[in-house]
Amino acid sequence: MFISEERFERLQELAREATSTGHRERARRYVRRARRIAERNRLTLPRRFLRFTCDRCDAYLRPGRNARVRLQGGHVVVTCDCGEHARYPYREGG
Ligand SMILES: [Zn+2]
Repeated sequence: MFISEERFERLQELAREATSTGHRERARRYVRRARRIAERNRLTLPRRFLRFTCDRCDAYLRPGRNARVRLQGGHVVVTCDCGEHARYPYREGG
């Protein structure tokens, strides 16, 4: 386990909690911090991190709170409150 992975997990956890309690800006700060760490260290963020964050507004996505999820033609389509869509293959794990 790399230290950076632990940091990403920790930041993801913090972002999730912040979103749950309605602190969306705080959640964005955690998301951005993780992105900066990845950039500086030339790391790829874990897939599960990428899937729960919005590329446009950096929100941490929680379906039912600030995101909608639906299945469409074998894909999962996640729509952020800001209007951004992300599509993933349905069965890819992670
Ligand atoms: Zn968004």
